[in-house]
Amino acid sequence: MNGQWQRGWRAALPSLAEREWDLLIIGGGITGAGILLEAARRGLKALLVEQRDFAWGTSSRSSKLVHGGLRYLKEGQFGLTRESVRERNALMREAGGLVEPQGFAFADYVDGKPGRKMFLLGLAIYDLMAGRRERHYVDAPEFLMMAPNVGRASLLGGICYTDAKTDDARLVLRVLQEAQSCGGVAVNYLAAQNLLRAGTKVTGARLVDGVHGALLDVRARLVVNATGAWADGLRGQAGAGPRIRPLRGSHLVLPAWRLPLAQAVSLMHPADGRPVFAFPWEGVTLVGTTDVDHGAALTAEASITRAELDYLMLALEAQFPQLGLCEADVLATYAGVRPVIDNGQADPSKEAREHAVWVDDGLLTVTGGKLTTFRVIALDALKHAMPLLPGWRDKLEPRPIFAHRALPAMRLRGARRQRLEGRYGVSAGALLDAAGPGELALVPGTQTLWAELRWAARAEAVQHLEDLMLRRTRLGLQLRGGGIEHLERIRAICQRELGWDDPQWDASQAAYLTLWNTHYSLPT
Ligand SMILES: Cc1cc2nc3c(=O)[nH]c(=O)nc-3n(C[C@H](O)[C@H](O)[C@H](O)COP(=O)(O)OP(=O)(O)OC[C@H]3O[C@@H](n4cnc5c(N)ncnc54)[C@H](O)[C@@H]3O)c2cc1C
Repeated sequence: MNGQWQRGWRAALPSLAEREWDLLIIGGGITGAGILLEAARRGLKALLVEQRDFAWGTSSRSSKLVHGGLRYLKEGQFGLTRESVRERNALMREAGGLVEPQGFAFADYVDGKPGRKMFLLGLAIYDLMAGRRERHYVDAPEFLMMAPNVGRASLLGGICYTDAKTDDARLVLRVLQEAQSCGGVAVNYLAAQNLLRAGTKVTGARLVDGVHGALLDVRARLVVNATGAWADGLRGQAGAGPRIRPLRGSHLVLPAWRLPLAQAVSLMHPADGRPVFAFPWEGVTLVGTTDVDHGAALTAEASITRAELDYLMLALEAQFPQLGLCEADVLATYAGVRPVIDNGQADPSKEAREHAVWVDDGLLTVTGGKLTTFRVIALDALKHAMPLLPGWRDKLEPRPIFAHRALPAMRLRGARRQRLEGRYGVSAGALLDAAGPGELALVPGTQTLWAELRWAARAEAVQHLEDLMLRRTRLGLQLRGGGIEHLERIRAICQRELGWDDPQWDASQAAYLTLWNTHYSLPT
């Protein structure tokens, strides 16, 4: 990705229709991004289009864990857990600074569920799959040193293990950046409106430019539907019946000083025994998640409901009774919709979380699965694509997620340097070079440099202020009121980089604040 990656393509949209594409990938979440990367690095001419912003869908609203998924073991999904643990380890190795280890602590109480033996058995299987021992049991005094704010009554001790965490939206951006350096093309705010056909076979899509409204017919040897929870829409156009059960998961964001955690704390919810966790993330504490049928239309953004808020607050009260946490402590909320394949289970949490691939009239749909397993999903999609792309052969062996490239010397050191390298790859040096005076300082209360805002505005295809605040950076989740107090300084840094005049900035800011108040604050 060079500094002009998106502006260049947006100015040249008609030329997309003139090219002959091998793959047209619809959907700019982690699934589409992963497929673009694996296809482009294997010599396929691939174009990805996203109706809104990159990672706008579920891939910016996950729990941000790169994990095996202990709870899937309970549901008997051993294959998914094994695959996830392997991918987690690969990502920690290959995406340092973006995917980081996270210690977890689970308090063990008298009569607590699932009980010490069951939990340790699950972790033993987990460790076996990972090929290394991470778990250990500690007594109550030692556990309280690691997690001092947990309830003390009937505490026997606790179990410690390791998983990993990430910034999900930045992971998508980094994968897209890597894909573009291999020749892939990705454009946001370009929606697939209709599939194009030759006879019964799907041969392309009519695209609508969400910025200027133009229509564009793009043809490809294969169209890939990577639209996650939205996948039934395009499959329906290819004559297939619905298969997705959209399940909503919501989160709370609290200031780290109100819920200070050195370790992630996982617990079984007192009402229904579902796993819930709280963990330190980018200077704040995340709490999640719920798992309920979504019901609402997928055209609107998902948001937390009053019942979900009460459910998560109850979990906090039960686990951290002495902190006296209340709704006023919540900085922000967010909700996402899981693309889960409907197998008719009564309890949403019992639905399998594996991905699925279907081919209907030549339209290849890939949906379900997890953020953690995006590379496996991408390779599986390409395995199914191979017979549909005569003349193209590849062994489809997994390759390192990010190719190693020598990075220029940088003005930052230690963890801050690693964080930037993880998020921006080869662009990290250019980001620092572009920084204005004082912009290497952190936005207060976060781990984001002011310089990241300038860089995103200059080089990362920002079309609206919400792209900058919610996905290029995560300030909209980390700062009270969506960061309203800092918008003047952000404007001073970014407006000129974006090439926006005053009315455009004002309109984008008003739209962002309305969106934030409706979908990222407490439910009314
Ligand atoms: C609450 C929650 C917590 C989760 N936590 C974790 C976790 O901790 N770890 C983990 O590994 N996984 C987790 N997951 C699962 C993971 O987030 C998803 O599996 C993953 O993000 C799905 O990615 P995707 O690309 O398939 O879908 P999406 O990210 O939703 O991408 C699909 C994209 O397609 C676009 N689109 C739709 N229609 C069109 C069209 N017509 N034209 C163009 N674009 C279109 C949408 O705008 C959307 O951006 C969680 C999911 C949820 C909901």
